[in-house]
Amino acid sequence: MSGRLHVVGGGISGLAAAVLAARAGWRPVVHEAAPQPGGRCRTVRRGGLCHDNGTHVLLSANQATLRLLAAVGAAERWVEPEPDGLPVIDLESSRLDRVTLSPWSWLRPKSRPAGLAPRDLLRLARITALPGRRSVAAAAGDEPGLARLLDLMAVAVLNTPSAAASAALLAKVLRRMALPGSTRLLVARTGLGPDLVQPLADAVMQGAEIRFCRRLRAIEQADGQALALHFTDGTVQLGPDDRVVLALPPAAAASVLPGLPVPERFAPIVNLHFPHSGQGPVRFAGITGGLSQWLLVRPGMASVTISAGLDVVDLPGEALAAQVWPEVAATAARLGIELPDGGPETAFVVKERSATPFQDEQWARAPRPIRAPLRNLALAGDWTTGLPATIEAAVVSAGQAVRRLGRPTIERAGARMADAAA
Ligand SMILES: Cc1cc2nc3c(=O)[nH]c(=O)nc-3n(C[C@H](O)[C@H](O)[C@H](O)COP(=O)(O)OP(=O)(O)OC[C@H]3O[C@@H](n4cnc5c(N)ncnc54)[C@H](O)[C@@H]3O)c2cc1C
Repeated sequence: MSGRLHVVGGGISGLAAAVLAARAGWRPVVHEAAPQPGGRCRTVRRGGLCHDNGTHVLLSANQATLRLLAAVGAAERWVEPEPDGLPVIDLESSRLDRVTLSPWSWLRPKSRPAGLAPRDLLRLARITALPGRRSVAAAAGDEPGLARLLDLMAVAVLNTPSAAASAALLAKVLRRMALPGSTRLLVARTGLGPDLVQPLADAVMQGAEIRFCRRLRAIEQADGQALALHFTDGTVQLGPDDRVVLALPPAAAASVLPGLPVPERFAPIVNLHFPHSGQGPVRFAGITGGLSQWLLVRPGMASVTISAGLDVVDLPGEALAAQVWPEVAATAARLGIELPDGGPETAFVVKERSATPFQDEQWARAPRPIRAPLRNLALAGDWTTGLPATIEAAVVSAGQAVRRLGRPTIERAGARMADAAA
């Protein structure tokens, strides 16, 4: 049967491409180098426990992702842990603020993030509309309240310190956050595996397949077309009606398609997971004044995120856990959350050294690769769109790649026959 779609890479963009392609009539097969799906968004097992490699947050602005979750029956698995506003704890002053994320709500003094003056809102509106070619810190200027808020956002959204982060990229997110209903913060209720990756993989495996431990080593090509995919364990010859979605991280994509423009600098994210025996509800909080930036508490697990942790990623795990645990305990106590049996001794530290591209001005201005560098091959991946590198960008890229390749020949023939019959 003609019309096989080979998806190389089983991260979110690859799985999304396979789900969307199956709906467009393709027979997808996913080839993944690792023994499990998910890529940078995966489950890590340790001592009988499953951890997320890192806490992943969605906003209700992430419409492509939410549509995909709904399509695979997983939308209900993403919950809004703080519907009354995000608690933000300052460890130095012990101050607790509830911050709403809609910029429009900041017109009301009560909902405004701490330190943000009314005049800052005007400046924020200007940055949102006309960010210019500069860093977030340069755009924020000398206003301390605005600088602090935008620094938090640059680190959270772009995984890049505001001194380097691109104001133009952050403005794309700010513009989305200004749309009605866009700022509900959502987390996976149980974990990335059961709430995101497995539902996608299950959807792919209904009628298609995922082949693990298959690393793509080379693409044979001629006349602007891919002819064969050479994997570590064999070669796939491509028929005239077959197509390929290459959903690889930048370095892997460039190694099989030399000359592809890819990001070359990356930023790390460090996550610390503290098992505990509490069974309370899912909670989420921002933390300032310490190393920790976000705390996610689920039944049995408290997880801390340190984004853009360029100076943190090389510290030994035990030292990090010893420093972070008191911050977790103080934050939990301030929010009235109990973490019985928790402590630094049982912490599990996950360091993702290349979590995202380093999203500075240079990267924001760099040319993105064309979607289909070969006639029968399209690219996907969070780094291939002009959006910040997130799950949403990964899903958007998958949709663009599948659309670019069109429908399988058999489908087109069917549509032509239906047209003729009509
Ligand atoms: C700790 C952490 C926290 C994050 N937090 C957030 C967040 O809160 N919100 C958010 O939206 N995003 C977040 N992100 C970013 C998000 O995880 C990524 O944007 C997304 O997972 C990228 O998916 P992808 O499919 O484009 O790439 P990848 O996940 O990198 O997938 C590529 C896949 O290709 C496979 N592969 C590599 N080489 C080969 C080869 N030669 N042959 C075959 N397969 C190969 C890899 O194993 C991988 O499975 C976070 C990332 C990290 C690491």
